[in-house]
Amino acid sequence: MNLQRTRVTWNLFSDSVSNPVRGACCAVTLLAALACGSTVRAEEVRPLRAGAAAVDITPQEFPVNMPGGFSANPADGAHDPLHARALVLDDGTTSLAIVVVDNLGVARDVADEAKTLASQRCGIAPDRILLASTHSHSAPSSNAASYRKILLNGVVESIARAHAALRPAAVGAAAHPLPEEVFNRRWYLKPGKMPLNPFGKMDQVKMNPGTSPDVLDRPAGPTDPDVTILSVEDAKSGNPLALLANYSLHYVGGTPKGKVSADYFGEFARLMPSRLEAGEDFVALMSNGTSGDINNIPFLVDRPRREPFEQIRIVAQKAVDAAYQARAGIHSHRSDVRLGMVQREVTLCMRRPTAEQIESAKAVLAVKDEAEKEKLPRLADAYARRTLSLAEGPESVSVPLQALRIGDLAVCAIPFEAFAEIGLDLKRRSPLPRTMVIGIANAGYGYLPTPEQHKLGGYETWLGTNRVQEDASVILTDQLLEMLKVLDTR
Ligand SMILES: [Zn+2]
Repeated sequence: MNLQRTRVTWNLFSDSVSNPVRGACCAVTLLAALACGSTVRAEEVRPLRAGAAAVDITPQEFPVNMPGGFSANPADGAHDPLHARALVLDDGTTSLAIVVVDNLGVARDVADEAKTLASQRCGIAPDRILLASTHSHSAPSSNAASYRKILLNGVVESIARAHAALRPAAVGAAAHPLPEEVFNRRWYLKPGKMPLNPFGKMDQVKMNPGTSPDVLDRPAGPTDPDVTILSVEDAKSGNPLALLANYSLHYVGGTPKGKVSADYFGEFARLMPSRLEAGEDFVALMSNGTSGDINNIPFLVDRPRREPFEQIRIVAQKAVDAAYQARAGIHSHRSDVRLGMVQREVTLCMRRPTAEQIESAKAVLAVKDEAEKEKLPRLADAYARRTLSLAEGPESVSVPLQALRIGDLAVCAIPFEAFAEIGLDLKRRSPLPRTMVIGIANAGYGYLPTPEQHKLGGYETWLGTNRVQEDASVILTDQLLEMLKVLDTR
């Protein structure tokens, strides 16, 4: 066996460049590892090692609010447990962790604190940790006073345990389609059916417009049907060690009222081990893809009513089947793979309301007469407040992007609820044979529509739902592709 092969040494350095094309607001800071072609040298290949662990992060104190809707949603108990699930990979040169947390979206400050603490515990650099939220709409806020510590401890503990469990491993990546559980939720409507938006204007498309064929015309965007997986095996025994899956579905919902739940992400993780006849230390992780405009409502199909949690079970079962099929298609798991990871900070402009928008927001809030209020468009009040708060908020925001290479698999991590077409675009243009795009990763900055979808309007594009510049998806996609090319340097 040939133990010598050429290897790229990964150098750590920081850099900062501004993007002249996109204006002063878009700056990029390179934080992590870049391949440096001049330092290629031969060295002994150290075999890949992997470890995985899951830690319970179910809240202990109730009631606790579950954010994700327009009104308070208190939980008085848990239907099923929440977890932080970690996969640590180490190729002898690069050590990285992927953590999937049952949460709507872990805030940037909480994610950063968890990474710093985990780094102190086991030495993995903070910018080599990908912390993704599943986007379960039935979990406490990461910043809730009674919960923050449980979440932080769980993330840190999961990484530390996965790191302590490192053993020789082999990996393979694949995908299998599951088209029937993803639906684009933005629709063109039949003539005369579009209501006014909260700003009193007419959009071209509407989110979740009901299921009546008298109203619905056609969806405004695509879906990404693939369940993409990274399968990890114990190199000696060939036993399944971990399986990281990714599907572009916002969430399923239909959880029992007032109960915390990990939605289908948790159910997937519970079902997968028995399907693979895996041992007790096996961990399955289901991450969210690019699902900002995708949900599980079958707009033109007559689905029978479901019991609470029933649809979650159905979707999880099908996702497990798809992951199983994908894994069965992997020719052979390999241990001679390279790891690489790069993180960039990209500064985006915050959207600012125009003087006219500020005036009309003030006019909406000045309406005191109940009868007059009734005549305002739905949610006019809420969006007037959001408009004014954006006018007073910061002018820019720095968002973290990550690109990973695990052998022939590229992984992109975006801190937004990105539209499906953004993930499809990245997969099509990626320099690597297979690409997984993880959304709501490392922070959560709201929806990320494309400029074309911004033109169509609708909930996800409204000022106040969406907060960053309208071409942000173009900037972030370009950055990620550039980062993947850096990692593709051999
Ligand atoms: Zn959401």
